[in-house]
Amino acid sequence: MAKDKLAFIDEDVANLKEQGLLINIRTMESPADAWMVVDGKHVLNLCTNNYLGLANDPRLKQAAIEAIKKWGVGPAAVRTIAGTQGLHLELERRMAAFKGVEDSLYVQSGFCANQAVIPALVGKEDCILSDRLNHASIIDGCRLSRAKILVYEHCDPEDAKRVIAENVGNYRRSLLITDGVFSMDGDVAPLDKLYEVTEKYGVMTMVDDAHGEGVLGQGKGIVAHFGLEGRFDVEMGTFSKAFGVVGGSLAGKKRIIDYIRQKARPFLFSSAVTPADTAACLAAVQVLEESTDLVDKLWDNTSYFKTGMKTLGFDTGHSETPITPVMLGEVSLAKRFSARLFDEGIFAMALGFPTVPLGKARIRVMVSASLSHDDLEVGLKAFEKIGKELGVI
Ligand SMILES: *Cc1c(COP(=O)(O)O)cnc(C)c1O
Repeated sequence: MAKDKLAFIDEDVANLKEQGLLINIRTMESPADAWMVVDGKHVLNLCTNNYLGLANDPRLKQAAIEAIKKWGVGPAAVRTIAGTQGLHLELERRMAAFKGVEDSLYVQSGFCANQAVIPALVGKEDCILSDRLNHASIIDGCRLSRAKILVYEHCDPEDAKRVIAENVGNYRRSLLITDGVFSMDGDVAPLDKLYEVTEKYGVMTMVDDAHGEGVLGQGKGIVAHFGLEGRFDVEMGTFSKAFGVVGGSLAGKKRIIDYIRQKARPFLFSSAVTPADTAACLAAVQVLEESTDLVDKLWDNTSYFKTGMKTLGFDTGHSETPITPVMLGEVSLAKRFSARLFDEGIFAMALGFPTVPLGKARIRVMVSASLSHDDLEVGLKAFEKIGKELGVI
């Protein structure tokens, strides 16, 4: 008999298990909200990217229901053949206006958006300047482009300048890409300084604003936060985080967005987003256009929770956003902490290597506008109890 050709899977999984790296996937049994049922247990949700609480918002749900009645459930084609519906175009117009840019494109997800835009702008003869801690979907988009990837130190415009000065002359074109808000630490890219450097050398610019849209710049994102509207070449975003739905967005100069419509493979070869999702995204944009109440509440909750955690003696890193890393060090401690929190009715996940560097394991708390101060107090009390129990504070 031939040897078991799938044995490598068992070996690899055993390895992951031994290193404590096997991912345990929990099951949500209720909508994403302040309180959720997770694996059968009623818990306070400090875990999702539902920054503004829109994932279960009645306005978005109603818009999705109406869209299904009017448009059906599926677009039945890729965007370039027969899949572009009026709803898609309306969302693209409204999103561009909201962000203060010339044009925008709606694609299936944020991950797809990065695969769409990067290989469209650069190829084999070009180079990419990439922050050391850029998101996996950026890294994959960069690899797919076959451009030379040149890494600069994290959030370091001086180092970016050095790498640009030493290298861009050797390539046909160059593109600088950075996360706007870094999702593990909650720190913010120095977009103003990076912009200055790239302008001087004629480097194209792109920012992945998955954690900045709906959060920074009164909801408009990191480019608005720095007052750089219309100057960055491309802003990539997602409708799956603060906007509470699903889908990716590319926003920026019309010349670039039009070009992506011609070139981007996920746009050309994968079907359009459903009417229900598109309509819910439109309703989310409308909520943000009408008022900054949810964004304000998010920031109020953020300062309430972070102040509480610091007063208790926790190390919450150097986040400047609602992402609140609770630094614990060893992955085993972070996992025990998270498991004890879950026993106490708090859902907050531990993150370890390779998601974060070795020895920098943490629990990442995601603050949301859906939480009340009373909810946050429940969370703080549990962190205090378990922090003392495990000798962290
Ligand atoms: C979540 C995330 C993405 C992917 O967005 P999806 O819409 O979930 O595919 C891309 N970039 C960053 C920085 C993210 O955090």
